Amino acid sequence: RQEQFKALRGVEPLTRDGKRIKLQMNAGLMVDLPQLVESGAEGIGLFRTELQFMIASTMPKMEEQEVFYRNVLKQAAGKPVTFRTLDIGGDKVLPYLRAMEEENPALGWRAIRLSLDRPGLLRTQLRAMLRASAGQELRIMLPMVTEVSELRTVRELLQKEIQRQSKIGEQLPRKLQFGAMLEVPALLWQLDELMDEVDFVSVGSNDLFQFSMAVDRGNARVSDRFDVLGRPFLRILRDIIRAGDRNETSVTLCGEMASKPLSAMALLGIGYRSVSMSPTAVGPVKAMLLALDVDKLSAMLHAALDDTRGRTPVRQMLVDFATENG
Ligand code: PEP
Ligand code: MG
Repeated sequence: RQEQFKALRGVEPLTRDGKRIKLQMNAGLMVDLPQLVESGAEGIGLFRTELQFMIASTMPKMEEQEVFYRNVLKQAAGKPVTFRTLDIGGDKVLPYLRAMEEENPALGWRAIRLSLDRPGLLRTQLRAMLRASAGQELRIMLPMVTEVSELRTVRELLQKEIQRQSKIGEQLPRKLQFGAMLEVPALLWQLDELMDEVDFVSVGSNDLFQFSMAVDRGNARVSDRFDVLGRPFLRILRDIIRAGDRNETSVTLCGEMASKPLSAMALLGIGYRSVSMSPTAVGPVKAMLLALDVDKLSAMLHAALDDTRGRTPVRQMLVDFATENG
């Protein structure tokens, strides 16, 4: 089967009814990069920069970060790479960055919160990204955003770094794209403001599911209790893509959901046209979409989500649809 998927590498990701789907992959280390060619992904939709920090024994210096990002862009050979700023804290701890004991680390001092409280750390990272992408496109996104004002603060810091780079005569990126991850439910009630502020939004469905259903993603006792393909979560995801369409803001999804053909199918059915997944999932997901009639699925799925009396699990309906339609 792997061979079969390999054969799809160069095939354009068009659904049976002609919808163009953007398939990107997630990465975090140099060893992931060869997969960009092997999988046939169009780019890296999520580059987890914290991995470089997690495998290091001391805080990587600006130059080390710069060299690393430069190598990533070089290996990507023109395919777009979306760098996510540090997402540490919670379950991702850095031994050399002493954090205090937290009762609820998932809700604690992590990701963008930590970066905003350590502006030196954030500015160093932004500077390394700016320098590494001189003359190229730079795509930056921020993890765990809760309020739109956080984005404005980071944008100001970024602006300062840009001014600094140009003042000392360094070449700037040719194009800058600034985005936010949607992982915290509070952002669902700021969608229009959010989309006014960014060039793109990427749904982190792992964390968004954890927070909206109040289930610890790492606790097996509860993590399987609710379904990502249940009505509540699919309705949330649909509200996001509708806001994207309304605001003409590009929306993508980079959580685990995108890696499973059945849930990827559901995402296309509710309107997603761009997803980022683990590299090995690109082949299977492409095979699924080539055979998919999206309009037909959408009609079924929207009816199921609008039906407040519906009792049949949506997962079951999706399995039936997939079976009936090959
Ligand atoms: C997510 O939360 O869905 C996500 C992609 O980020 P991470 O898994 O790195 O938390
Ligand atoms: Mg996350």
